[in-house]
Amino acid sequence: MERVNTLRTTRNLPDGPLLELLETTDKAVARYLKESAREVCRSVFGNEVQLRGLVEWSNVCRRDCYYCGLRRSRALPRYNLTSAQILACCEKAWAKGIDTFVIQGGENPAGALQLVPVVKSIRERWPGAIITLSLGELPFSTYAALREAGANRYLLRHETANPALYGRLHPAPDALESRLACLQELRRLGFQIGMGMMVGSPGQTPENLLEDLRLIQQWRPEMIGIGPFIPQEDTPFTHCPPGSAETTLRLLAILRLMLPTALIPSTTALAVLTGGKEAGLEAGANVMMPVFTPETEKRKYDLYKGKHHV
Ligand code: SAM
Ligand code: SF4
Repeated sequence: MERVNTLRTTRNLPDGPLLELLETTDKAVARYLKESAREVCRSVFGNEVQLRGLVEWSNVCRRDCYYCGLRRSRALPRYNLTSAQILACCEKAWAKGIDTFVIQGGENPAGALQLVPVVKSIRERWPGAIITLSLGELPFSTYAALREAGANRYLLRHETANPALYGRLHPAPDALESRLACLQELRRLGFQIGMGMMVGSPGQTPENLLEDLRLIQQWRPEMIGIGPFIPQEDTPFTHCPPGSAETTLRLLAILRLMLPTALIPSTTALAVLTGGKEAGLEAGANVMMPVFTPETEKRKYDLYKGKHHV
């Protein structure tokens, strides 16, 4: 309990106690950690859960991340939503009172460039909306054009703060360094940025998670997206065990105590393991992202097993 109280009041803990908190077998301490995070979240955001309308605009990807169901080597029917379809998804979200849209997709620089006029149209149609993008690593000129068109936020999970582990999750020449360079540029352009890691990715150690916490503490992103690794068929990691929901929840709670004002979603990957989005909210998350992708394409955004059952 004392460690949780220290973390709550100072927003920090030395490495040893932080690791112990992450790995504790004392259920009462784990419960206290999550309850404290929930309380801090409530003191900052009240009882409201913020909603984002998620539009999975394309599953075309040039990368081959070993864990992901959209990786380019995987046989999958590919799609791109048209501008009209994207606007229709936003329209549906707006009609439900959602003023923040998240447009996410595989990494496709040519496709991303075609999104510039779409972002412009969304901005003109809903001047007060918040437009969040999650399109991977792109040429800096494309980031600039998207920002100029009116996008406000950009989610680019760092996936792991350990360069060697990053190398085991992604084929060369993909590297953590270039991911961080993108995040730095996005910030320079005035985007609010989102970072985060995959919990329990193959080969990850508790010390690696500590590195993630320190990186996030150092960068202080406005958004933090974390979720457990979940294996997907026809990927190199298909037989690897999933990450732990409990560890993900503890990390979420620790991050809430470290960065009280961060926007933290209760992710779908976590919900696959816990059976719903409640557990994340009870551990300090304050955001949910209902999906507005058209039914005809939804199943093709096939990141990991169980995604479509949430
Ligand atoms: N392509 C962009 C990118 O990589 O940043 C955005 C879309 S990507 C599908 C969004 C996130 O999905 C990734 O950051 C990754 O953490 C997560 N993801 C992919 N495969 C996953 C898996 N098997 N289990 C859990 N999360 C996964
Ligand atoms: Fe592509 Fe993103 Fe999946 Fe990597 S995680 S394969 S970049 S969609």
